[in-house]
Amino acid sequence: MNTKVNAIEETVEDGKSIKVIECFSPSTGEKLGDVVARTPAEVQQAVDKAREAQKDWAKSSFNQRRAVLKHIMNHILEHADELCDLIVKDSGKTYENAMMGEVLPICTKIKWTIKNGEKHLKPEKVGAGMFPHKKAHIEYVPLGVVACIIPWNYPLQNIISSLVTPLMAGNAVVLKPSEAVAWSSERFQMITDEALRREGFSTDIVQIVNGFGDTGAALVRSGVDKILFIGSVENGRRIIEGSAEHLTPVIMELGGKDPMIVCDDADLDKAVHSALGGCFINLGQNCIASERILVLEGVYDQFVAKVSDYAKQLRQGVPTNPGAVDVGAITTPMQIKVIDDLVQDAIAKGATVITGGEIKTIGSSNTTFYPPTVLVNVTPEMKITYTEVFGPVMLIMKMASEEEAIQVANSTDFGLHSSVITKDKEKGKRIADQLHAGAACVNDFGLCYLNQDLPFGGVKYSGFGRMNGRDGLRSYTNHKAVLQDRFGFEIPPKLYPVGKHDYESAKLGIRLMFQDGFANKLKTLASLIWVNLKAKFSK
Ligand code: NAD
Repeated sequence: MNTKVNAIEETVEDGKSIKVIECFSPSTGEKLGDVVARTPAEVQQAVDKAREAQKDWAKSSFNQRRAVLKHIMNHILEHADELCDLIVKDSGKTYENAMMGEVLPICTKIKWTIKNGEKHLKPEKVGAGMFPHKKAHIEYVPLGVVACIIPWNYPLQNIISSLVTPLMAGNAVVLKPSEAVAWSSERFQMITDEALRREGFSTDIVQIVNGFGDTGAALVRSGVDKILFIGSVENGRRIIEGSAEHLTPVIMELGGKDPMIVCDDADLDKAVHSALGGCFINLGQNCIASERILVLEGVYDQFVAKVSDYAKQLRQGVPTNPGAVDVGAITTPMQIKVIDDLVQDAIAKGATVITGGEIKTIGSSNTTFYPPTVLVNVTPEMKITYTEVFGPVMLIMKMASEEEAIQVANSTDFGLHSSVITKDKEKGKRIADQLHAGAACVNDFGLCYLNQDLPFGGVKYSGFGRMNGRDGLRSYTNHKAVLQDRFGFEIPPKLYPVGKHDYESAKLGIRLMFQDGFANKLKTLASLIWVNLKAKFSK
């Protein structure tokens, strides 16, 4: 195993002790630098500063918000090579994965938000219901300070994509990146600082606070107005516990065990490449990785042969430059152990390894890698069948029927993404409709995430709340209901003191509004007039 890990170091500076995150490159073992871990008191200071700065930001126009987002995108485009270098060093991923998996989704999200943000956030007129003399609208009011606590799999994308939406909605953001990629995240603060400064706003509106779990826990309890948590189910539960203190609302984006159903009429090339992409992009460190490939028996043998052929040929090693390797390194040594434990449990219980299946050492520095792995003969007794791997392991399972595939697809605790591969459009839709997940994609893996018009999020243990699209934007606002006068008079003109005929009058009024039939309504109206006349003249 890699011996060089991100670790805590106690250092004394000016007589005080500070916690430091030691950062190493997972693919070479090279030390990258040290990053100071923020204390709970420093986290609280950051939140307080953000709250102050947000007052100004909440009053900003949509044009100003768009300008800030545009500067963020332009910075990323102009410095794409430098940023990808940092990401590759810090995470172990390839340059291609950095460009396609980080820069592309960020730009897609920012462009969509610039184009659509105002449309979804401006006040929205709605009907006034039973009050024809009033008018009503919904205002999407910024919440205040949003906390984002995020994982390590996409060091830049997790940061920028998490902050773009709450920022557009008028909030300040305090963001806690994963300790495993703290080194690069220090550089990313410059992106928002520069963008905010250029439009004359305080850089306190977006702050990155690095640290371990205790820094995240302090942020949860700091009195922020909403929390976005992206991470494991285990820590998701801790966040919910912590958020109970101030009843802080949370969005939970947790793990997955996504199924990909390959039907026996599938275009085999399409199926093979979707499975390879779904399992091995970012070396499987992807919440929407297609970890379970459920193949109908008619094409099972051909599929296994073809996909294995490709998997065996993937070149793995240190991503020294673009094109150097097909797959790189796992970001944390701890994750290598998680992956290997699950694979060894499966092998011990009878799974067959087609390729990969054990930790390997590459290069002179003795750093360890986990290779692209294909397992068949996987059964429900194996932990890997229902536990998230978050690594490059493709499980292929033979299915006797469409019904069995749907049942197996829905059989885990997770429900994030799902895919169906078939040439038959109707069948694709029919199967997709029966998959219990936050998203279903026909003839592709994970692409729903890239379509910003779609909401992104899960069901079951994959979480709740939505990150993208209209619902994502509005989830960082108070949906404030406003009812105003339309004409300047009141109905009813008075409620107190209660009159002798008020009850009868209310009963007839309600009946008039809701009963069926014109003749019935006429009769009720006559009674209502009669009751009101009685009321008037009995005073
Ligand atoms: P993790 O839960 O270990 O850590 C996530 C973040 O939480 C880190 O910043 C960590 O420091 C922080 N944290 C840890 N303990 C905490 C505590 N007690 N209080 C507050 N914060 C705390 O997750 P990870 O290992 O970094 O990431 C992998 C997981 O993330 C996988 O399960 C993956 O599926 C999931 N993920 C989900 C999505 C999604 O959108 N659904 C996206 C990416 C990753």
